[in-house]
Amino acid sequence: MGEFALIDLIRDRCAIAREDVRVGIGDDAAVLAVPPNHQLVVSMDTLVAGVHFPIGTAPADIGWKSLAVNLSDLAAMGATPAWATLALTLPDADVRWVERFCDGFAALASEFKLALVGGDTTRGPLSITVTIHGFVAEGAALLRSGARVGDFVFVTGTLGDAAAGLRRVGDVPDDDALVRRLSRPTPRVAQGLELRGRARSCIDVSDGLMADLDHICAASGVAAEIDVDSLPASSELLSAFARDERRALQLAGGDDYELCFTAPESVALLLLNDLARSGCAATRIGRIVAGAGIRVIDADGMVVNVAASGWDHFRA
Ligand code: ADP
Ligand code: MG
Repeated sequence: MGEFALIDLIRDRCAIAREDVRVGIGDDAAVLAVPPNHQLVVSMDTLVAGVHFPIGTAPADIGWKSLAVNLSDLAAMGATPAWATLALTLPDADVRWVERFCDGFAALASEFKLALVGGDTTRGPLSITVTIHGFVAEGAALLRSGARVGDFVFVTGTLGDAAAGLRRVGDVPDDDALVRRLSRPTPRVAQGLELRGRARSCIDVSDGLMADLDHICAASGVAAEIDVDSLPASSELLSAFARDERRALQLAGGDDYELCFTAPESVALLLLNDLARSGCAATRIGRIVAGAGIRVIDADGMVVNVAASGWDHFRA
């Protein structure tokens, strides 16, 4: 199968109609209508075989994840996803592989009525780049730079599952709950929308809580104090890992794609209620303080030496 037949296959399998796509796949470029009084929000992420997913990952999972990581970035901005482009570099024109890739991609795209509007198809080592486009009302984007001293710090869902899944991948069935969190992350789009106008800062947790919350602190010129015993854990993580290892996974494990955000105490209660109602509860994990960097304490208020609980081990 040649390049153009592959493009036709991708277009047909990922087809989602949107009225704001004036020209989609098939011309030299897409023509898209941004709603009045809104701003375009754009993000791009690349997945390279053997780097961002284990070689041998099911193609449908790769399709899902390549879109999920991008949707997660839009979620962190409080944006409504609308369109995506897809740069696919394939070692060969394996039709079955592309079909299954599209199935994973389209499953998630249809959940958000997201249209694939263009891309590029080339031959080379397996690599997938998705660019995602969404919009926010003028000035309403959630930024990393808005945290203020006194804000509470929250995180959606649970932490550490994907990193735990990475350790067991290959040793357990593909439908293992922790492995699923790695291969089929759930972008918190609805939660990002709930945060607009209420959270002061937000980031998605892709590199690990410590690393990503530190980006909020640096961008906002503040520090954070985290209670390690308050970090949300799934029942699967709790039953598979003892305390110190679990803490390390929760603090430093990547690929969770949860949202970490800060908000003033005055909005916290209602916001948590609305998030729980949106389908993914959030947990308060700490607060923003003056200074720089992140301090980790336990429920007794004792400072936790993060290196001792395995942090360095996960720095890689
Ligand atoms: P050009 O040579 O003008 O750049 P291409 O032949 O690369 O055009 O692509 C033809 C059309 O197919 C364009 O609309 C392009 O956006 C789309 N396209 C190519 N590859 C992909 C892909 N992997 N996914 C979605 N659309 C694609
Ligand atoms: Mg052209």
